[in-house]
Amino acid sequence: MTLVTRDPVTGLRRGPIRFRDGNPPVPSGCRWCGLPESTHGRAYIASAGMHTWERPTVAQVLARMRARAKAQREASRMAPIVAAFERGADLVGPSERRRRDRAEQTTPTSERTP
Ligand SMILES: [Zn+2]
Repeated sequence: MTLVTRDPVTGLRRGPIRFRDGNPPVPSGCRWCGLPESTHGRAYIASAGMHTWERPTVAQVLARMRARAKAQREASRMAPIVAAFERGADLVGPSERRRRDRAEQTTPTSERTP
């Protein structure tokens, strides 16, 4: 069983994951595969076969710019949560975190639990 689907709008075949590395391609990336022109060479994907870099359409450039901006916003929104997760901290909201910070500052060091 393959996971390739056909986009109902464009008619192009594609995989269920739109971006191979999870990030939208650079706006000037190849029309077919999204790779930058500088590193493209000859590449194969199912929808376009073996091909060389081809200029993306204006609509693709705009869509990629919007997708990258959206991904950037989402990444910055998630950054504190990811940082807290990586530190192994409790996953709490900003107001609760501020309350805990205030409580921690007023507690004498001798009464703090490690
Ligand atoms: Zn390509």
